[in-house]
Formats: sequence, C-alpha cells, structure tokens
Amino acid sequence: MTAAMEMPRVQECVVTACGYNHTGDCHAFAITIGSMDHAHCHTFIELPAVRAGVDGLIAQVGACQRADCRHNDQLECHAPGIKVGPDNDMADCLTYATR
Ligand code: SF4
Repeated sequence: MTAAMEMPRVQECVVTACGYNHTGDCHAFAITIGSMDHAHCHTFIELPAVRAGVDGLIAQVGACQRADCRHNDQLECHAPGIKVGPDNDMADCLTYATR
C-alpha cells in the first residue's frame, strides 16, 4: 500500500471568468499548471455563467510543468499552497518563483 500524498491547494483564485471559480476560489478537483513560457493554468476555461467543479471542494495542484520553479520537484508542486490570477495571461500561478 502506498501513502497518499497531500497535494498543494489553490488557496485563492481571482479569475472570476473561469467556470471553476465560484467566489474567489477554485472548485476543480485538480488543476494543471505550466506551459513553455510561463506558469499558465491549463484548467482555466472562460465560462463565467457555468458553475463547474465540486461544491465544498478546493482544488489541488495535480501537476505542474514548470520545472524551473523553486517549488517544483519532478514536475510536481511542493509549495504549501498556490494563488492563481492574471500575470502573463488571464490565469497564471502567482506563486511561481525562479530557482
Ligand atoms: S508554485 Fe511553482 S511548482 Fe507550484 S504550481 Fe506554481 S509554478 Fe508550479
């Protein structure tokens, strides 16, 4: 049996245009961060009229492709939690920090 690993939570997301954003929080089960040039949230979907995801659940970071972030180890995030908001794009990981 393997021990379940606690994944970092999305502590705050201010991208209200996203279908997974209810009231400043993300309700996707898990999100994926990363693209070639910045820490984009790939789970973002511009559907403000849709209440997507699971009520009562706060998203966790399922995977992150930004290997150059100091919180990243083997393409998994080890930050205590992350914040998502506009940076390079409409929805980016604001906790990203270069090594
Ligand atoms: S803090 Fe770094 S490792 Fe964690 S999701 Fe953001 S960019 Fe990825």
